[in-house]
Amino acid sequence: MTKTLISNVNKLYINGNWQEASSQETIAVHNPATGEVIAEVASAKEKDAELAINAAREAFDKGPWRHTSAHERSELLYKLANKIEEHREEFARLETENNGKTLRESLGDIDFTIRTFKYYAGLATALSGETIEADAPLTSKIVREPIGVCGQIIPWNYPLLMAAWKLAPALAAGNVCILKPSELTPLTAIRLFELIDEAGFPPGVVNLLVGYGPEAGQPLVESPLVDKIGFTGGTVTGKAILQNAVGNLKKVSLELGGKSPNIVFADADFETAVDYAMFAIYNNTGQVCSAGSRLLVEKSIYPRFIEELVKRTEKIRVGNGFDEASQIGPLISQKQMEKVLNYIKIGVEDGAEIAVGGTRLTDQGREKGFFVEPTIFVNVDPKSRIAQEEIFGPVLCVIPFENEEEALELANGTSYGLAAGIFTTDGAKAERVAKGIRAGVTWINTYEQNLIEGPWGGYKQSGLGRELGTYGLEEYTEVKQIINNLKVEPT
Ligand code: NAD
Repeated sequence: MTKTLISNVNKLYINGNWQEASSQETIAVHNPATGEVIAEVASAKEKDAELAINAAREAFDKGPWRHTSAHERSELLYKLANKIEEHREEFARLETENNGKTLRESLGDIDFTIRTFKYYAGLATALSGETIEADAPLTSKIVREPIGVCGQIIPWNYPLLMAAWKLAPALAAGNVCILKPSELTPLTAIRLFELIDEAGFPPGVVNLLVGYGPEAGQPLVESPLVDKIGFTGGTVTGKAILQNAVGNLKKVSLELGGKSPNIVFADADFETAVDYAMFAIYNNTGQVCSAGSRLLVEKSIYPRFIEELVKRTEKIRVGNGFDEASQIGPLISQKQMEKVLNYIKIGVEDGAEIAVGGTRLTDQGREKGFFVEPTIFVNVDPKSRIAQEEIFGPVLCVIPFENEEEALELANGTSYGLAAGIFTTDGAKAERVAKGIRAGVTWINTYEQNLIEGPWGGYKQSGLGRELGTYGLEEYTEVKQIINNLKVEPT
């Protein structure tokens, strides 16, 4: 399927041209449901990164892009959104083939991608400044300008959507971009760039580097010619990126990992809370930065809640994302599967108890895929590794709490601060707890409902800066003050 769909599968897109990586080396891309190699993609190295950086620099400093009107940029982004929409099903199938997520999940991602491009197409013309009262004859005007060349490095869990979250606001604000998708899931990004090419963005404005992080991504981070890095990925990589960028103090925004608490009070609507507790951890096979991986349940309903969760978890159908019966797909790779299985082992060694799941699935056509049973741990020490570290798989830790104060203490008791859920029918309590939680997004009586129009990002070690909404647009602008002396007196 990949071969018929993408003409430039083994190429990079630099300065408006499709070209092979200078080394001619390729990376094998797998279908995680079958373990099969589905494509060989280009493996960009420093030399290719330099070509992309120079093309982007030239396009920003000397090309027509900087002088395009916001309306022109908006038109191009709409055109791209419409093209993606025309190929909605193809994109979804490609995402499922490469990432493993169910087709239903992929379709949801593609729709969110289309909306992201449309939203920022609209916002392109909404950027505005302000004026400040200054003592005459001075005036002060504040304007927002694009930052320049943006290196954008993204992960594998939402391959096309993360590309949209990065490219759309940056281009709307007038920047030029170099996108580096994950080496595990570059296929929808390559297809996206074929549509970018068709849409008619000027050469050098949007470039694609496919390759490994240290080889294709790090040169972007270290280059003095790149003005900003927008990164989504793991916290360890994020810290390395910040360190590598410090040499030339470029702007860096980071969307990192999480260990998000989902708090269920005894007065919650039981059915709603169970539904969302399941969704919060099993959606996208648990490979979600904001997954509700620590479920905190008030003691009086704890046994009943676990019983219901276990009953429902036992019925989950894990399988190939193309199979309509599948509710959960595989993990992304052998390595990720081993990481998740290792955490399950660590959990047991540290004294937690598996209430359901815990093993790899290798029967019924799942022999070569990276499938792990949805797993629930009880009797979890809140300070233990499985309760503190991001597992990034379908593994839930359930921890009981006595009262509101203890719930908050547990909720805030990790180094992360990306998201949180609160389930209660007491509106005042919900507001109090939401205020007390140190996280960038807090859901009340729902979970994982994301709005393009609102900010997304983390407190503490979950990141720096915000994406989405007007906040996301502003992250791709510099602020300039222009002070003018109206009483010009030449000497
Ligand atoms: P990762 O950190 O391993 O890789 C992310 C990207 O960084 C990839 O493109 C990779 O090639 C690149 N990279 C790796 N080393 C690099 C280096 N030295 N220099 C430059 N680039 C480098 O993350 P992953 O495993 O692909 O994704 C999973 C992580 O992403 C999880 O921790 C998850 O929580 C996080 N995530 C966060 C958000 C959010 O919005 N906060 C969203 C999605 C995923």
